[in-house]
Amino acid sequence: MPQAGVILSVDVSGPQAPDRAALVEQTLERGFPLMVFPPSLEAFFRQECEADRLRHVTNSGLAAVLLFAGLLISDWLLTPETVGLAAALRLGVFAPMVLGGLWVLRRLRIPLLTEWGIALAGMLAILLTGVILLKADSRWALSRVVELNIIVVYTCTLARFWPAIAMAGWVVLVQAFLVCTLPDFTGVVGINASLLVLVVMAFTLFGNYTLERLERHAFLMAQRERALQDALEASHAQLAHLATTDALTDVANRRSAEAFLSQTWTHAQRRDLSVALIAIDVDHFKRYNDHHGHQAGDRCLQAVARALSSCSRRAGDLVARMGGEEFLLIMVDVDQRTALSVAQRLRDAVRGLAVPHGAPGCGPVVTVSVGVATARPGQSVALNDSLKQADEALYAAKGGGRNRVCTRLADGEMHCLDEAGLLPEGMPT
Ligand code: GH3
Ligand code: MG
Ligand code: MG
Repeated sequence: MPQAGVILSVDVSGPQAPDRAALVEQTLERGFPLMVFPPSLEAFFRQECEADRLRHVTNSGLAAVLLFAGLLISDWLLTPETVGLAAALRLGVFAPMVLGGLWVLRRLRIPLLTEWGIALAGMLAILLTGVILLKADSRWALSRVVELNIIVVYTCTLARFWPAIAMAGWVVLVQAFLVCTLPDFTGVVGINASLLVLVVMAFTLFGNYTLERLERHAFLMAQRERALQDALEASHAQLAHLATTDALTDVANRRSAEAFLSQTWTHAQRRDLSVALIAIDVDHFKRYNDHHGHQAGDRCLQAVARALSSCSRRAGDLVARMGGEEFLLIMVDVDQRTALSVAQRLRDAVRGLAVPHGAPGCGPVVTVSVGVATARPGQSVALNDSLKQADEALYAAKGGGRNRVCTRLADGEMHCLDEAGLLPEGMPT
C-alpha cells in the first residue's frame, strides 16, 4: 500500500552515486587527454568494462594463437631453415603462454592485469618473431620484418592506450636490435624497414587513442544519463510521496485514502470479500490544543498516527489522516468480529501512549473514539453508505462517553465497547 515512499534501487557500486555524478561532470569538463580518469572513476570504468573486455580478449587471444601458429606457413615457405625453431616457439612457447595467461586472467578478473596481459602477449609475439628472424639466413628473411607490423596492428586494436604505448616502445627496441644485428639489414633497407614499422605504429597508436577516447567519452555520457535518470526517479518518488502522504503524520492523506478505497471496493466486489472501515477521532482535541498549545497538538497527532500504524501492519491495510484529528483504517477480507477487535486494539494503543491531557472536563490522557463498519461490496452495498455507517458508529462512540468502539450489528442495534467491554452477544464469527 502506498503508505511509505517508493524504495529506489540505485546502483552505488564504485564511487557513491552522487559523488560519481560530480566526478563524471568534472571529467567531461576537464577532458582526459592522458586516457585516464580520476582514480575512483577509473576503477569504476574498468570494473564496468571488465566482463566485455574479458570476452573480447579471450576471443582475440584464441585467434592470436591460431594466427601466430599459422605463420609457420611463412616460416616453411620463406625461411625453411627456421621451421624447427619456429614450431617450438609458436606452438611450445607462445600458444601455452597465451592460453595459460587467458586462463589466469579469467580466473583473477583483475581489469588492470587484463589490459597489461594483452600488451605482454603482443610483446612476446614480437620477441619470438625477432628470435626467428635472427636465425633466418635465406634471401627472403628481410621481407618477414613485415610480420612485426602485423603484430603491432593486431595488438594495438585490442590494447588500451598505455599498454599499447609500452608495446610500441618494445617494438622499437626489438627493431633497433634487428637492424643492428641482421647482416642484410644495412643502409637503405634497414632505414626503410624501420620507417615502415614506425609509420605503421604511429597510425595504429593514433587510431588506438581515438577509439579509446570515444569509448571513454561514451562511458561518461552513459554515466551522466544514468545519474539524470536516478535523479528523475528520486524526484518522482518524492513527488509521489508528497502527493499521497500527510505531511504532519506521515500516514496516507485523504486523497490517497479515497483512491485506495475505491480500488479496494472494486477488488472486494469482484472477489466477494468484506471491507472494514474504522473511523477514529481524537477525543476533546480542541481542548487539548487550547490547554497544551497547537505545537503539542501536532506532536500528539503524530504519536496517535504512529500508534494507529503500529496496530495495522497487515499488507493491504491502510491508515489515513482524513483531516484534522480524524483518521481512517481500511482493511479488506476482515469480518466484523475481527474489525471490532482491531478497533479495540487501536483505542487501547492510543490510550497506552499515555499522552497527558488533563484539560478541564477531560480524562487524564489522550483517547480516541472509534466507529466500525463492515460491508460486502459484492452484495451491492454502496461505498458511501458504508462510510456513513462508520461515521454514525463514531458519533455513537462520542455520544456514549468517548474512548470507546461502536458498531451497528446485523440486527440494526448499535453496540459500544468501552475499555472493559466484551464483544456483544450474537456477533457473527
Ligand atoms: P470531540 O471529542 O467531540 O471530537 O471534540 P474535538 O475537540 O476533538 O473536536 P472538534 O472538531 O471540536 O475539534 C477538532 C480540533 O482539532 C480543532 C482543531 O483546532 C484541531 N486540529 C485540527 N487539525 C489540527 C492540526 O493539524 N494540528 C493541531 N494541533 N490541531 C488540529
Ligand atoms: Mg475530536
Ligand atoms: Mg473531529
